This record gives sequence, structure tokens and C-alpha cells, in this order.
Amino acid sequence: MSVDTVSLTGWGRTSPTTAVRFRPRDHEEAAAVVRGRGPRGVVARGLGRSPGDAAQNAGGSVLDLSGLARIGGVDAAAGVVRCDAGVSLERLLRVLLPLGWLPPVLPGTGRVTVGGAIASDLPGLDHRRAGSFARHVSALELLTADGEVRTVLPGTALFDATAGGLGLTGAILGATLRLRRVTTGLMSVSTERAGDLDDLLARFTAGGDRLPYASAWVDLMARGRATGRGILTRGEHATPDMRPAHAGRTRLAKRAGGAPGKPLLPGLPPLPGGLLGPAAAAAALCNEVRYRTSPHARTGELRPVPAFFHASDALPDVRPLYGRGGLVRYRFTVGYGQEETLHRVVRRIAARRSPSVRAVLQRFGAGAPGPLSFAAPGWSLELDLPAALPGLARFLDGIDEEVAAAGGRVCLAEDSRMRPETAAAMYPRLAEFRELRARLDPAGAFRSDLSRRLGL
Ligand SMILES: Cc1cc2nc3c(=O)[nH]c(=O)nc-3n(C[C@H](O)[C@H](O)[C@H](O)COP(=O)(O)OP(=O)(O)OC[C@H]3O[C@@H](n4cnc5c(N)ncnc54)[C@H](O)[C@@H]3O)c2cc1C
Repeated sequence: MSVDTVSLTGWGRTSPTTAVRFRPRDHEEAAAVVRGRGPRGVVARGLGRSPGDAAQNAGGSVLDLSGLARIGGVDAAAGVVRCDAGVSLERLLRVLLPLGWLPPVLPGTGRVTVGGAIASDLPGLDHRRAGSFARHVSALELLTADGEVRTVLPGTALFDATAGGLGLTGAILGATLRLRRVTTGLMSVSTERAGDLDDLLARFTAGGDRLPYASAWVDLMARGRATGRGILTRGEHATPDMRPAHAGRTRLAKRAGGAPGKPLLPGLPPLPGGLLGPAAAAAALCNEVRYRTSPHARTGELRPVPAFFHASDALPDVRPLYGRGGLVRYRFTVGYGQEETLHRVVRRIAARRSPSVRAVLQRFGAGAPGPLSFAAPGWSLELDLPAALPGLARFLDGIDEEVAAAGGRVCLAEDSRMRPETAAAMYPRLAEFRELRARLDPAGAFRSDLSRRLGL
């Protein structure tokens, strides 16, 4: 097992802290790390794609499970796979698609592990139909504080607390997943432009869930009558009769791979100087170009599955744009019927002229039983902002208050700055989560910077 002392951050590169990182080669080595942990405890880490401090543990141990990445067995008849927690969704997709199956839920990046997807209970673009990731897990192996590995089944309190539990109930070592059947490696995609936020929400709901995968880019720098304008992209799995003649030769899934020299976002010119300072105005221009160059309405465009789900993985790393302080990702959800709150938040961000080039709106369906699972019926807005923006902390505290007052919540897996009292107000079942942890792990073996900051 390799061991080193490293400075770690999340994907947003805010708040670096130092920990001893262990990279076990098997379950026994992982168990030895948990048994031999020091007073600052241990937390599991996947690919470190969580934007905040969820997979860091200042002064303690970090159990990096990205090397435990075997795909143990695919039952191609039943659509079930057993795999290690360190397998990435990108790799799983590459292996499964030629067999006619897909991972059950695909978020906007394939570079997350199965363990991270369960611990964050990731929602995908078809949450209204499929729910979050853990709904498709039929069993998981959990390394608990006593150093034992337990098989944990759905329907138990431990399973529910582990789904979205941010590694605080133990380290997930492996999982059995139920897969989604597909008949081609292509998506049939429709794209449409919306002139303002009301128009965007109306387009989202029009046509019901006929195209089950849906998300929209929102121009959070547009103001006046264009406030909240955006581009809605929806898709469904293409059936063989939809495939063009040449598609047989490109059946599988071309890998989404980065190419140097590509623009940082589709359709955008480069942003010299990044999003801070005088060049911030360029962000508004970029949004304008993106909006204007997208089609008013286009239907039936065929795209390979990885290009549809993981387009951003093919682009160069955007983080240098956000400056040395890194980026804050802010993701919240408010229920249906709370659209006025969504409008107010969008207006506040637009009025502030915050340099926002990445903002994603989604619709969620029924929530999961996990006390810390994020997705709940309603709208979800996610945006990235430079952490060094003056006054950002106070501004986001104010947005937190709006969201909490509307009964909404901020996503813990992506958080890097929330206050503990706000988290407790947004997650009313936090006390239940703490009680389970206190029973299972009385000495607090599993801890992270996030859990200390928010008192989870
Ligand atoms: C570009 C980008 C796009 C993203 N898109 C989406 C999106 O569309 N939808 C969405 O919901 N999220 C999205 N995220 C967030 C990200 O998918 C989640 O935070 C995910 O959990 C990260 O997985 P990871 O393997 O990198 O885990 P890490 O970031 O390493 O860890 C995240 C959390 O999971 C825990 N964890 C990781 N592995 C294990 C394990 N084996 N056992 C127990 N706990 C574990 C960690 O302790 C930590 O609390 C995105 C992130 C980025 C950077």
C-alpha cells in the first residue's frame, strides 16, 4: 500500500488541508487503515471530484480508494454488475455500453467513482424517472469503524444513511448495481432556446417526460427582460430505427477525450485573464455568444452517449479561469411551487454581475429515503463562481436564507462554505443521521473537513 502526506483539496481547489493518504490494494489493507487510524480519524476519497471539502481530513487519514477498481462480474442477461467502489462511471460506461447496458445514473462528469456516487447519492439528468444513484444499488460492502466489512442491503437504516452519507458511516468497498438497458450507443437530442426564466421553466415542463433526460444552461449574467434566459437540452436513448446508415460503424461510444486548443466551453471564445478582474466583462460576452449561436430549436440530433452525458470531460480544465482562490460551486434545490424563490435568486445573481459562465438547471422527482440525500422534488440550480469574488461569502449566506425559507436545501457533497446552523435547518433529519453515527461509530472514526465544519 502506498502512503504519503499530501495537501488535498476538492475539485474547486478551495481550502487545502494536509492529511496522510493511504492507497490500499485490497480490503485487508483498507481495514488495517481504519483500525490503525489516529485521533483525527479517517475518510474515504474517490477521484476528488467533489468541489468542496467532503473528501479531505485535516491532520488525519484519507483512504484513497481509486485504486480498488475491479469490475468483478457483469451479468449481461440480468443487467447487473458487481464492482469495486473505486471504478469510475466513465470506465463502467465504456465496458457496459457494448453489452447493451449503462450505469443506472449518469451525472455531468464520468470522472467520479461508484463509491463517490453512492456517498453523494448522485442525481442524474433523468432524476424524475430514475431517482438518485443509490436507488439502483442492490447491495454494498461497507467497511465500518470496527474494521469489519458488512454487506448492507437497501431498506435498512444503515443503507439509507450511507446513501448520501458522505463517507461518514464507513468506507464503501464495493457495490452491486442494477443497470439500464439500451439498444444503441446513441442519444436523440433536442435543443431549444428560452428567452427568459419563465419561458425556460415552461419549456422544461412542456411535453411531460417524453424526453426523460433534461438540463438547461442558464445565462446568469443576462438582465432585464432576458433574466434567466437559457438553452434547454433534452434527450432519449435512440432506438435502432433512429440510427443513421453510418452509425453501425461507430456503435460504441467514442470516448470523450480532451483535445488541446479547444474552447473552454462549447461555442465560446477563450477568456484571457480568467473570470476575475477587468476581464470579468468577457464572461458576459461569452454567455451572449453561447446563447446567440445555439439553435432556436433543433430536434432528433443523434449524439454518442458519452458526448451527451459527459461533454464537459472532453474540454480542457476550466479551473484556471477562476483564479488562484479556486471556485465555489453553489447548488440548491427548491420545491415545485417555489418558482418565485428561483426567480429571486436568479435576479439577485444577475444584478450582482457575478461572472458566471457555468450554471445548470435541472428538475428533480421523488426524493430518496437517506437523511442527507440531496435531491427532492423541485428545481435544482448549480453554478460556479470564483471563490475570490469580493463579498461572495455574505452574498451566498443571503441566498442560503432564501433557499431555507422556501424549504429548499444546498447540496452538501458540493459545498465548501455553508454554516452549520444553515445545514441543520435545511436537513431536518440530521439528528437522526447523527444518532445512527453515534451508535455505529461512537469514537467518530469517520470524519472529514466537511463533517467538522458542519457538525454532521
Ligand atoms: C465537473 C463536475 C461535474 C459534476 N457533475 C455533477 C452532476 O452532474 N451531478 C452531481 O450530483 N454531482 C456532480 N458533481 C459532483 C461529484 O459528482 C460528486 O461530488 C461525487 O461524489 C464525486 O465522486 P468522487 O469519486 O470524485 O468522490 P470524492 O470527491 O473523492 O468524494 C466525495 C464524497 O464521497 C465520499 N466517498 C468517496 N468514495 C467513497 C467510498 N468508497 N466510500 C465512502 N465514501 C466515499 C467522500 O468521503 C466524500 O464525502 C460534479 C463534480 C464535478 C467536478
